[in-house]
Amino acid sequence: MNPSQNLARIQGQLPAGSNLLIVSKTRPYQDIQAYYDIGHRDFGENRVQELLEKSEILKSTCPDIRWHMIGHLQSNKINQLYSVHNLWAIHSVDDQDLLEKLLKAEAKLSSNLNLFLQYNTSREEEKSGFEDYESLKKAALLFPANSKVKLYGLMTMGTLRTENFEGEARRCFHELNQIKDRLSQELSYPLQTSMGMSQDYQIALEEKANWIRLGTMLFI
Ligand SMILES: *Cc1c(COP(=O)(O)O)cnc(C)c1O
Repeated sequence: MNPSQNLARIQGQLPAGSNLLIVSKTRPYQDIQAYYDIGHRDFGENRVQELLEKSEILKSTCPDIRWHMIGHLQSNKINQLYSVHNLWAIHSVDDQDLLEKLLKAEAKLSSNLNLFLQYNTSREEEKSGFEDYESLKKAALLFPANSKVKLYGLMTMGTLRTENFEGEARRCFHELNQIKDRLSQELSYPLQTSMGMSQDYQIALEEKANWIRLGTMLFI
């Protein structure tokens, strides 16, 4: 793995307004440190336990790191997640019940936290997320004005099982971007999109992704 080369290659493809989240799940903490040392700050994990352990190990050597939780979150893990030093965002808020619990626990946070509501654009059964615009909007309206927990954007994943991977990815990302624009307009509130992984990030960038989440391709 060559962090400088990998990072430079992706950064060269990022238009203004698009950001890279490095997905470090299953990677050793030394790999995170390597990317931190060349200036990267945003890292994503999909398991609370692993995130907690890595954040403790890296607390003093990566003081400005921003941690992103990107995996399905069980509500009995909220307190543990909220104790993570430098927790910056959760991309995987996938139903209203979870959102209500995240809002209710906000007193346990030491700083502001940004939430992405996950939207199921692929309609695949095993994927979690809000299923229609109305439920998404209802959830977006639950955020109190002066909570530490902020509505930040919408997240989705492209269809996995398909013969037409690229076409499906484009459909999913295009739909998320349109829904983001509509919701943002109706709420008069700016929103971002989190979409695109190693296999489909170029399509996500063409559909104006604000955050692409890359793991595999940065660690080979
Ligand atoms: C693992 C993961 C990614 C990164 O996927 P790669 O194919 O390794 O780039 C992005 N988003 C989510 C939600 C993930 O779980």
